[in-house]
Amino acid sequence: MEEKCPECGVKLKSGAKFCESCGINIENYQKQKEKEIEQQKIQMEEEIKSKLEKEFQEKIKQIENEYVEKIKKEKREIEKKQPLFSEHQYKILIGIIIITIIILIGFFLGKAYRII
Ligand SMILES: [Zn+2]
Repeated sequence: MEEKCPECGVKLKSGAKFCESCGINIENYQKQKEKEIEQQKIQMEEEIKSKLEKEFQEKIKQIENEYVEKIKKEKREIEKKQPLFSEHQYKILIGIIIITIIILIGFFLGKAYRII
């Protein structure tokens, strides 16, 4: 199999460890390249990992915020729907007040008439 120098492109003799043209160490060159590729791979993996982790954290935060907002909204809705007294209770309360007033007026009127 014919190989070419990775640096200068000159044809190499089979099994040659050095390039006759530029003098680079073929074996070391390839190892160096492999090492660089490996390092790039590790770096890329770390970048992807940290990116995914960041996105994951942001997503969780977002879901958490949405959930909290939803709960707050539901709480507000419930508070809005539940006034201090219901309409029915209001009618009863007003009725009791009116009856009490009438009784009190009657009581005082009766007392006044008795005095007169
Ligand atoms: Zn060369």
